[in-house]
Amino acid sequence: MGPYGGVLVCSAFQQSRSKILQKACSSPVVAKKTGEKLHSDLEVLLLERSEEGVLKKVNSVRNHLQGIGNSVDVSPVAALVTRIAFLLDKYPDASEISQGVITILRVICTHERGGAGCAQTLAYSEALNSLLSAYSRQRSINREMYLLLAKVCVHDKLFSVKARFTGVFGIPLNDLNSNAGAAKEMSTQPILQVLRAVLANRLNVTLLNRRGLLPALVMLMKKKQGVIDMEMVLLCECLAAASRSKNSVMQLLEQNVLDLLLPLLERGGMCTSEKIRCLLAVLQVVIHVVSFKMGRKAVARKSLCAQLMSLADLMTGQQGLLNGISEILYRCLPPLRLPIERTSRNYTTMLRESFNKRLSSSPPNKDSSDSSLVELFRRITSFDDNLEDLPYLGNIDRKQVLLNLAKDVVRPPPEGMEAGGWVAEAEFWMLNPSNLQMNLEPLNVSPALESLALLNHVKAHYNQELTTKRFPVVYDVTHGPLFEDLSFESRFEGGNLRRVIQRSSREYDLVLNPDVNTMRHHFWFYFGVKNMTARVVYTFNIINLDRRDTMYTKRGNAGGLSPLLFSDGSWTRLSSLPGFSLSCYRNHYRHPLKGHHYYTLSLTFLLPANSTCYLSSSFPYSYSLLRTHLCTTAFNSNSVFYKVRKMCNSVLGNKCYLLTITDKSNLSRAAQKPVIFISSRVHPGETNSSHIMHGALQALLSEHPAAVSLREKFVFYVVPMLNPDGVVCGNQRCGMAGADLNRQYENPCPTQHPTVFYTKALLTYLTANNRPPLVVCDIHGHSRAHNVFMFGCEDTPAQRLLPNVLHNRLKSFNQGQCTYKLEASKRGALRISAWKELNLSLSYTMECTIAGCDSRGYKGFHLGVEELKEIGRELIFALDEIGDSRESIESIAAKTDFSKQNLSVPAEKIHCSDSSSSSDDEANVIEDDD
Ligand SMILES: [Zn+2]
Repeated sequence: MGPYGGVLVCSAFQQSRSKILQKACSSPVVAKKTGEKLHSDLEVLLLERSEEGVLKKVNSVRNHLQGIGNSVDVSPVAALVTRIAFLLDKYPDASEISQGVITILRVICTHERGGAGCAQTLAYSEALNSLLSAYSRQRSINREMYLLLAKVCVHDKLFSVKARFTGVFGIPLNDLNSNAGAAKEMSTQPILQVLRAVLANRLNVTLLNRRGLLPALVMLMKKKQGVIDMEMVLLCECLAAASRSKNSVMQLLEQNVLDLLLPLLERGGMCTSEKIRCLLAVLQVVIHVVSFKMGRKAVARKSLCAQLMSLADLMTGQQGLLNGISEILYRCLPPLRLPIERTSRNYTTMLRESFNKRLSSSPPNKDSSDSSLVELFRRITSFDDNLEDLPYLGNIDRKQVLLNLAKDVVRPPPEGMEAGGWVAEAEFWMLNPSNLQMNLEPLNVSPALESLALLNHVKAHYNQELTTKRFPVVYDVTHGPLFEDLSFESRFEGGNLRRVIQRSSREYDLVLNPDVNTMRHHFWFYFGVKNMTARVVYTFNIINLDRRDTMYTKRGNAGGLSPLLFSDGSWTRLSSLPGFSLSCYRNHYRHPLKGHHYYTLSLTFLLPANSTCYLSSSFPYSYSLLRTHLCTTAFNSNSVFYKVRKMCNSVLGNKCYLLTITDKSNLSRAAQKPVIFISSRVHPGETNSSHIMHGALQALLSEHPAAVSLREKFVFYVVPMLNPDGVVCGNQRCGMAGADLNRQYENPCPTQHPTVFYTKALLTYLTANNRPPLVVCDIHGHSRAHNVFMFGCEDTPAQRLLPNVLHNRLKSFNQGQCTYKLEASKRGALRISAWKELNLSLSYTMECTIAGCDSRGYKGFHLGVEELKEIGRELIFALDEIGDSRESIESIAAKTDFSKQNLSVPAEKIHCSDSSSSSDDEANVIEDDD
């Protein structure tokens, strides 16, 4: 029998004994009766009018409650507790009544069954104010009051603010001090619980620090003599909240608090939840201390880092603790620089000329007298059968077409090189449908090994491996692969690997290129690897992701994104390979200008056979692939009018296409038909939007009855790739000018954002010529949410109609996630610009998860190419259901009872990823994916 055996048996025996006793005392019937009696007693109390009567009832209820057993469920009285609390306001001077009421509320709120619910009701109601004013009236320490407040305060996030407004925020500190001096001390635990809640607000902290908060906490801590119990946990948590400013850190150092705290980090023994909470709080205090130079000096004298490393070894599974330790080391050790010479990716030399041309032009508007623009749009929106810039080639060898088209893609040279130096690489595999036929692949639910990966990283940094060791560079985009074990390559359309460093025989650190002319936006990745050996465990660490809160880490209840691997003629999810693990953690590399952290995405897997592979965060879709599809997608040329015309050149000189699709008969009337405008791929990293667009075009050109009807009713204008340069360069979000093109619609520059300038001008032209698009839809990928959904601009039945129809047609769509508002931060987005400036009411952004679904038909699965194309197809066919004019849409919407529609799926909140232990983490700038 182990050392704890006897104790365990004893306590188990006691537990079962007390259960038997409980059962004997209160059968369910008795319990129910007791609960009912409590309810009726409270109701009678509330009906009482005279002060005397109230006091009498209060006393009797209190006496009755004190004998109440744990089998009684108090939740039915939750509705009454707020009314009971109002008695405190009604009889402010009757201390006996007040005390009785507080005791009643305390017993109810601390009751095992249903007490928490009652405490929550109290916290969320006006009654909290009555409670707080009773608290402010008390003359001496009131134990019952503290027990009650301790239960209630944890439920109200604004408790700290309310405590200040009601003037009670100083009471716990006063009581803590007078309790310590009192002859008969009460347990400080409930006082500390209330104090901790008060300290959640920074202004409270500042005010209380002026009244001697820190010395009071330190004195109590000294009394504990290193014993870790709940009081100690609360003391440490209060200290963590109170030590955020430089002044308070200075005070702490003067009082030698580190001598009290650091020994706590050394204790071995069992990892109880109390101990872990205590350690977390201590680490938080230390993080505050090492945020300042004097603090770093102080901990260096105590060789804190070495102590933390041995603690880390003891706590290998504790992600929160490791995050805290990592944060402290991040501040104490010298920052790591990414192993590259420059963090930016500049092509300004070759672009300067075009940038300098920035005209003093105003954005295109209705009375634009620019005759060349008008002439251009008259031509490219016309129904002239002979006019096309990418001729239709029909059913021929598409591989050859792709190769030919790939030749005239305009690409900037890899940095530091003359033009050229690109290797020819084309996505033949994306042309062959059989390569894309994947079964539904489950989302990644493999256990996260963040703590292990993070520990390795922290150790490597602590041992100075990352600063002094010269690991071999095995790939650099400026000179290609340096033949070592593995041969990496990314100099092809969409590739964005910048450098690879070999850390050990099978572990590689990969650095991604930022978007052109920026120093950020590292998320999408795409590269090839030759000579991979079968049944060998490889680890690829992408060390400069600049956002953590992504689908890799957002597992939710369904699972997260797994990157893709192409080998042996087909795509697979890495998560289906043996030995797979994925972790994503905040590392110690620092952005040279912004100073923020980077994140590591660590991928471990092994291949079943020797192979050349391509790894990608989502299914690639290049500019050449788009062009190949545009000129080879099958359609019936006798009935379908389909033209691919150049709208404008991109900054680099690639073509931005405008497609015109309608019914071929009666072309003379086509100009009278309503217009639908669809666009996609303004954000190059959102490749899924191109696959959706591909599905949409296939559907629209098909002989499906809905497609025939749509072409008869409408003219479709489609811009399938709004940012060809970004796609070619492997950008995540921006165009050549280093700006997010979907924020430029307010005032686009014809030379820096030509595709946006011309798109806006086109919409303006159509509107000015009495052909305002009935529907505008811009297709995007979303890197932080599951499912497919839409953003609209205004919450009206007419605007809800299309999402509503899509919800019924498409099992990946979730109506609950749709929002209808104008966000100031998205002023320059196509959706908002079209709504605001051109008054196009049905203006949408369609968002499709880059991973998969956590609700409805595809719950728990990635969306493959087939599912993405299905989204495009259903988007098109849904348009056939909504009518062909504003009036018909409004009348259909009015008939549709939205409240009864399929809203069974609750509005999904965008979950926040586990926040790291650091409270003042400068969150990296994260844009919404709209
Ligand atoms: Zn987007």
